[in-house]
Amino acid sequence: MENNKYKLAAWPAIVHAKCPRCRRGDMFANSMYGFKGQKMNISCSHCGLVYEREPGYFYVAMFVSYALNVAEMVTLAVAISVLTGSRNPWLYVTVILSFAFILSPFNFRYSRVVLLHWLTPGLHYHPEMSQDKPQ
Ligand SMILES: [Zn+2]
Repeated sequence: MENNKYKLAAWPAIVHAKCPRCRRGDMFANSMYGFKGQKMNISCSHCGLVYEREPGYFYVAMFVSYALNVAEMVTLAVAISVLTGSRNPWLYVTVILSFAFILSPFNFRYSRVVLLHWLTPGLHYHPEMSQDKPQ
């Protein structure tokens, strides 16, 4: 296959929040942790894919974000229980809410990445679009 030499791996594209169609363009315009909040690019700088598939599309990412939050909270609760053996509910509430706050930019970003990479019907990777653009 001629196209295979352009094929980019899925995991680095997901970790670095790259475009789901070409895996080259960045989905976000700035870094995950910063005082200005996160700014998402309107479209892919490489293949032109519009990230917000239809108006309000990222409301769906709230459900992904909810699932991420539940997974993190359950993991933390089990970890606190195993590591400290404490039965004090305030320890759990304090640690879990602090982590929910610290991880919120992560959840915001990766809920959208997961939505576009895995949960959007009809949006797939196109290796031929990973090629360098003709000058
Ligand atoms: Zn793209």
